[in-house]
Amino acid sequence: MKEFDYIIIGGGCAGLSLAYELEIFDKLKDKTLAIIEPRDDYKRDKTWSFWKVFSHNFEDCVKKSWDNFTINTPNKTKYLECPTTPYQAIDSGLFYEKILSRLRLNKNIHFFKNINEVDATTAFKFNSVPKIENKQSELWQHFCGVEIETDKDFFDDEIFNLMDFACDQRNKVHFFYTLPFTKRNALIETTWISDLNDEKLKDYDKQIDDYLSKHLNIRNCRVNYKETGAIPLFRQNNKKKLNEIYIGAAGDMTRLSTGYTFLNIQEQSRYIRENIENIKNVNLYKIQSKYDFLDKILLKVLKNNSAEMGNIFFKVFDSKSKTAINFLSNKSNFFEDLEIILKMPKWKFLKEII
Ligand SMILES: Cc1cc2nc3c(=O)[nH]c(=O)nc-3n(C[C@H](O)[C@H](O)[C@H](O)COP(=O)(O)OP(=O)(O)OC[C@H]3O[C@@H](n4cnc5c(N)ncnc54)[C@H](O)[C@@H]3O)c2cc1C
Repeated sequence: MKEFDYIIIGGGCAGLSLAYELEIFDKLKDKTLAIIEPRDDYKRDKTWSFWKVFSHNFEDCVKKSWDNFTINTPNKTKYLECPTTPYQAIDSGLFYEKILSRLRLNKNIHFFKNINEVDATTAFKFNSVPKIENKQSELWQHFCGVEIETDKDFFDDEIFNLMDFACDQRNKVHFFYTLPFTKRNALIETTWISDLNDEKLKDYDKQIDDYLSKHLNIRNCRVNYKETGAIPLFRQNNKKKLNEIYIGAAGDMTRLSTGYTFLNIQEQSRYIRENIENIKNVNLYKIQSKYDFLDKILLKVLKNNSAEMGNIFFKVFDSKSKTAINFLSNKSNFFEDLEIILKMPKWKFLKEII
């Protein structure tokens, strides 16, 4: 069996982002890399969205960018702008195609379906396979989205809806999320923050049908694409080993309050590339601990006050939109953190800290 300098376990978002980063910065000219990925073919399976708070390698995979967004509770709508940090949606199909076509040109990079096909004893391993069995009772962000096409112009494609809480909450946290790609084409997701034990919350098709027909008044449309997922909102705490580190969601790159992971993966990939020659000795790349601290409190408040979460998320955006975006994208300074904290209902938060 062949030996490699590096092995990436899991060729998903984090594994491929890292391989691409190493490749375009010439780190694989004299080094060999094995990528272990069981899937047979790569199809579009996710839409990764985020506020672009720094530049990344995948501008040409952006399906659409927005400078304006709304957030709704049953009684209020807030209109917000983000021209300096546009909200971008990346098509995972374009992302996989771009990376794989580049990686296939390098003879030092090999693809395998199973780790047992390579000699993994001496290689340094980057592992993106999560270990999340028996974690159903933890908090997850679980969702289902459909990309629909209408016969007539319907959407305002200049503005997306980040959260619409004007929907059935069922004693959990529930909102809809709408990304209008064109006037006739939009991704509409039903999103829950809850444990995964309650199967009754997973009648996603009915939730989306009701939202389309009763809330948006869309009677005729075609569904062109569907994605479902569940993002763990808890830390996996996979430990660094002598010859192995965890990357991506398995490497705790998810922001616990929002599920945003994509840009953190890009920062982690950049950090690893910058330190690849000394990777065994450098510290792990981590999301700043202040965000974990604040997010864990928010999630505790959420567990005990689910009915009020729409208003609490709404209040985050009572701050300047730039402040809220910086905070949600891990780029906030002390004063911005303070501005957000002061908007929160103090007693509810204090109760969870004490
Ligand atoms: C549907 C969906 C939409 C999302 N949308 C957003 C978003 O809008 N914005 C955002 O920031 N984040 C989003 N996320 C969260 C996060 O960005 C994604 O989950 C992202 O794909 C995480 O990357 P990853 O590499 O850690 O995991 P994955 O992309 O899931 O990659 C893990 C890979 O490991 C492979 N694998 C599994 N078992 C093995 C094994 N035994 N050996 C080898 N390989 C294995 C899998 O096939 C997979 O390819 C979304 C998540 C989902 C599920």
